[in-house]
Amino acid sequence: MTKSEALYARAVKRIPGGVNSPVRAFGSVGEVPRFIERAAGSRIYDADGREYIDFIGSWGPMILGHNHPAIRESVKKACEKGLSFGCATEIEVEMAEFICENIPHVDMIRMVNSGTEAVMSAIRAARGFTGKNKIIKFAGCYHGHSDSMLVSAGSGVMTSGVPDSAGVPAGCTSDTMTAVYNDLESVRALMEAASGEVAAVIVEPVAANMGVVLPEEGFLQGLRDLCDTHQALLIFDEVITGFRLSFAGAAGYFHVTPDLVTYGKIIGAGMPVGAYGGREDIMKMVAPVGKVYQAGTLSGNPVAMAAGLTQLKILRENPSIYERLNATGEIFYRNIEKILADAGAPCQVNHIGSLASIFFTRERVRDYTSAKTSDTKAFADYFKYMLNHGIHLAPSQFEAMFLSAAHTKDELDKVLELVGSYAVNNFSRE
Ligand SMILES: *Cc1c(COP(=O)(O)O)cnc(C)c1O
Repeated sequence: MTKSEALYARAVKRIPGGVNSPVRAFGSVGEVPRFIERAAGSRIYDADGREYIDFIGSWGPMILGHNHPAIRESVKKACEKGLSFGCATEIEVEMAEFICENIPHVDMIRMVNSGTEAVMSAIRAARGFTGKNKIIKFAGCYHGHSDSMLVSAGSGVMTSGVPDSAGVPAGCTSDTMTAVYNDLESVRALMEAASGEVAAVIVEPVAANMGVVLPEEGFLQGLRDLCDTHQALLIFDEVITGFRLSFAGAAGYFHVTPDLVTYGKIIGAGMPVGAYGGREDIMKMVAPVGKVYQAGTLSGNPVAMAAGLTQLKILRENPSIYERLNATGEIFYRNIEKILADAGAPCQVNHIGSLASIFFTRERVRDYTSAKTSDTKAFADYFKYMLNHGIHLAPSQFEAMFLSAAHTKDELDKVLELVGSYAVNNFSRE
C-alpha cells in the first residue's frame, strides 16, 4: 500500500469522500488521490516522494508557480506581526487601491474569503441595487456552491431553476434562470419572459468549469447590450480568468466592461481570498454604507492580503509574464491539437492563453450540451496514463489545464511526447 492509499483509507473514515472538496477525490477517473506533501515551481511531490509536473496549480492561484519565494517571504513577514486582528489594516487599503488603480472597471472592491462568497455577495449587491430578483446564469458555468447558483443541469433553456444539489430548497433557486452559453437568443428570450425583473446576468467570460469553452465572437458584447437594454447588471465571474488572461482579466482581454466582477484564486496566491467589486454606485449599496448586508470575520486577513498583493504586484510590474504565458500556451496547446489530429483522435482542444481542455468528442464544444458529449471513460484512461508518467492533470474531463510561468519548455516537450505516444497507442488510424 502506498502512503497516499493509506492516507486515503484514513481520510474516508473522517472526511466525506476523504476530501474537503469533491473534485480532489479522483472519483471520475477511478484513482486514489495523490496526497501532496510539498510543491515548488511547476512540480508537486506526493507523500510517497513521487514527483509530478503539475497542471492544476491549485486550480489557478499558482500562476507564478508553486511556493514562489517572494510570496512566501511576504507571508512570513506578515505572520511575524500577527495572524488576524479583526480590525482595519493598511494592507487592505493597499490591496483595494492597487486593484482599483490598475483595473478600469473596478472603482471599489470588498474582500471576502472565497470565490463562492464573492459571487454570493455580488449577486446580493446586484439585487439590492436594481431592486429586482431574477438572475440569469449559463448552463455549465460554475459560480461556487451558494444555494442560488447551484442550478445548471438540463439542456436547453429553462425558465425557472431546478436545484442541482440535495439540500437546496426550490425556493432558493426559483429566481435563477438558466441560459445557453454562446447563445444570445436564449438570453434574450429569458429577458423577455422575465419582463423587466432580471437583476443581473452572471457569466464566466471564458467558461472553465465545463472544461474550457471560449466565448464566440460578439457573445460577451451581446450580453453587455442585452443587459443595457433590459436595465440588468452584467457580472463577470473572473475567479479563474481574473489576473490570468491579462491583468484586467477577461474584461481587459475582450474589451467588454462588466458592472460587477468577482475574483478568487489568483487574487489570494494560494491563501483563501475572494473579492467582488465594480461600479462605485453599486458598491456603495454594501454595508455599512448601504443596505446590502455582507460581512466576514477573517475578510481581508493580513497574511492572505500579503500573499495576494505580492503576487498581483509581480504580475502588474512584469507584463511580459502574460505575453510569455499566453504565447507559450498558444504554441503548446496548438501542438497538442496537431498531435491528436494527426493520430486521428476524436478530440477537441479548446484553449485560450494559459487555459485549455482536451474534450474526448468529435463535436465542436461551444456549450454545456456539446461538452457533455465527451467520452469521460476515454478521458479517465488518458488521465491515468499521464499520471503514471508523472503528469498531474485535473482529474476530470470538465476542468481546465492551468499553465504557469514556471513551466519550462523541456517540461512541455515531455508532455507533448507523452500525448503523442498515448495518441499513437490509442487512436492511430488503421
Ligand atoms: C473556483 C470558482 C468559484 C468558487 O470559488 P471558491 O473559492 O472555490 O469558492 C467561483 N467561480 C468560478 C468561475 C470558479 O472557477
